Amino acid sequence: MSVMFHGIGVSKGIAIGQAYVLYRERPEILEYAIAPGRIEHEIARFHTARAQAQKQLEAIKQKFSADVPHDITHFIDTHLLMLDDPVLCEGTVEHIRHRVCNAEWALQSQCDRLEKVFDDMDDAYLKTRKDDILHVVQRIQRCLACDTDADAPEDLQGDHLKGRIIIADDLTPADTLVMRHQKIAGFITEFGGPLSHTAILARNLGIPAIVGVRNVRQLIKAGDWLVVDGGQGMLIAEPDSHSLRHFRDLQKDEKRRQQNLFSLKNKPAVTTDGRRINLNGNIDGPDDVRTLRQYDHTGVGLYRTEMLFMERDEWPSEQEQFEVYSRALRALKGHPLTIRTADLGADKEMRDTLQHGPMAHNPALGLRAIRRCLKEPHLFMLQLKAILRTGAYGPVNMMIPMLTCVSELDQVIVLIEQAKTELRAERKRFNPHLPLGAMIEVPAAALSATAFARKLDFLSIGTNDLIQYTLAMDRIDDEVSHLFKPLHPSVLKLIDMTLQAGEKIGIEVSLCGEMASDPLYTRLLLGMGLRNFSVQAGSLLEIKHIINHSHLGKLATLVRPMLDLATPDEIEQAVNEMNRQFA
Ligand code: PEP
Ligand code: MG
Repeated sequence: MSVMFHGIGVSKGIAIGQAYVLYRERPEILEYAIAPGRIEHEIARFHTARAQAQKQLEAIKQKFSADVPHDITHFIDTHLLMLDDPVLCEGTVEHIRHRVCNAEWALQSQCDRLEKVFDDMDDAYLKTRKDDILHVVQRIQRCLACDTDADAPEDLQGDHLKGRIIIADDLTPADTLVMRHQKIAGFITEFGGPLSHTAILARNLGIPAIVGVRNVRQLIKAGDWLVVDGGQGMLIAEPDSHSLRHFRDLQKDEKRRQQNLFSLKNKPAVTTDGRRINLNGNIDGPDDVRTLRQYDHTGVGLYRTEMLFMERDEWPSEQEQFEVYSRALRALKGHPLTIRTADLGADKEMRDTLQHGPMAHNPALGLRAIRRCLKEPHLFMLQLKAILRTGAYGPVNMMIPMLTCVSELDQVIVLIEQAKTELRAERKRFNPHLPLGAMIEVPAAALSATAFARKLDFLSIGTNDLIQYTLAMDRIDDEVSHLFKPLHPSVLKLIDMTLQAGEKIGIEVSLCGEMASDPLYTRLLLGMGLRNFSVQAGSLLEIKHIINHSHLGKLATLVRPMLDLATPDEIEQAVNEMNRQFA
C-alpha cells in the first residue's frame, strides 16, 4: 500500500527509484577522565583525527572540483576553514588539559558552545550555518572513533547508489557532492532547512530533494520504491501503478522541458511579435561569470561589488578593485558589465573596523549604499577610479544604488569628474564617457524617476528594496515576510512610473531585483513595457523561454487594466490567468 510523507521541498524535480537507507548515527559521546600523564597523547589523538578529516575533505574537493563550478566546491572550503576554527581547535586542546578528559568529550563541549552562539543569532541564514559546524565535528568524531574513512565506504563509495533515493538523518555538503558523482536520483533527510548548504547544493546540482521528513527512516525499508516530488515537498513510498505512471510522465515532460531550454543557449530572446528583449545576469564576483556562461553567453546587468568589501579589515585599494573588475570584464568576452558601486550597510554590513560608528537602530533606513559612500568620499573615490579605468578595456557601465534625491546624484557626478581629473593627472587610461545609471529602489526615486532620467544614461529597478521600502517591511525579518508582495498595486505603480520615465526621456530601464528571475512575473513585466531583464544565472533560459512565447502587443492590452486592480490577490489571479492563457 502506498504511503505519502510531507517535508520541505528544497530542490525541484521528480525522482523515481529504490530507497537506500543510510544509517550513520551520531556517535555517542561519553566523558571519561584520562591519566594526567596521557594528556599530550590525547591532544595528539585529536590533532591526528583533525588532520585525517582535513585530508578526506581535500580528497573530495580534488576529486570533484574539475567537473563542478567553484561556488559548489566552495562549500567544502567552508568546512576546511571550520577545521581551523580557534574555538574548535585551541578550545578542544584547552578543554583536554583543563578537565583532563577524552578528546571526544572536549570536542563535543566546544561544538555545543558554538551551536549556542549560532542559536542566539537573529539572522535565519546564519542560524543554519550551525549544521556546518555539526558536520565538521561529526567528521572528526568519526575519525576519533577510528572510522578512518568518514565517508563510510560501504555507504557512499562504489556505484551501487546509481539511480537510488538516499534516505538519511542529515547529509553534509561533501556527502551531496560524493553522491552526485554516483548519480543518485534524489535524497530525503529527517533534518535540515531550506537555507542549509546541503539544500543550496542540491538546487545547484539539480538533485530533487526534501528535508525535514521526521522519522522517515523508521518507516521506509531499503529497496522500497519511492517517488520524490522536490517542488511539492512530497514523498510517496510504494506508489501504485497509476501514480507511478503519472509521475513518470511528469518526469519525462520535465526532462524534455530542460533539454529544450538548453537549446535556447546563445539564442536571442525575441517575442513572437519580433521584439528583441535584453536578458542579462546578476553576479557577485568574477568567478560567477563562469556559472553564468554555463547557461548563456550574456552580459551582466548587476554586479554586486559588496563581496569585495566584506570579510576584510581595510577598504580595497583602487588597483585591487581595478584588477577584480577587469577579471570579470575579461571573462565576459565582450559582453557588457554593469558594476554597481558599493551597497554597504543594512544586510550587507562590513566588519567592525570599517563600520561607521555604532550600529544604527534602523540600518535599512540608515547610512547605507550611496549614503555611506558620500559620507566617505575619499574611499568612494577609489571605487569610482577603478570602475572608470576598467571601462577603458571594454563595455562597462556604472550604477549607483539607493539614491533618493537628485542632489545626491549631483554629488556623485561631481566626484566622478574629480576622479577623472585625478586619473588624467596620474596618466592612467580610463573611459571618459562611461555610461552612468541609477538603481530605482526607493519610492522617492521612483516618484522622481523623470528627474533622475534626465541626468543619466539608464535606470535599473531594484525590486527587492523597492518592495521593502514601499511596503515598510524589513526584507530580512522572518516575522514580516508574509508582507513581501511584489504584486502590491503600489509596487506596480512605482515600477510603471519608472518605465514611463525611461520611455519619455529616451533611456533604457532594466529590472534586476528577484522579480525579474521569477517566471510568474515575466509576462506582467513585459506587458508593462520592460525590455531589459537582469536575472540569476539559473533562471536565464526559463525567462528566455517565456519571452520567446510572448506576444508583446497582446500582453500590453491584457496587463494595463491589471494595474488598476485594488489588491495583490486580485492582481495575482489576473496574472495567473494570463500566464495560463499563454502557456
Ligand atoms: C534590489 O534591491 O532589488 C537589488 C537588486 O539590490 P540588492 O538585492 O542587492 O539590495
Ligand atoms: Mg537593493
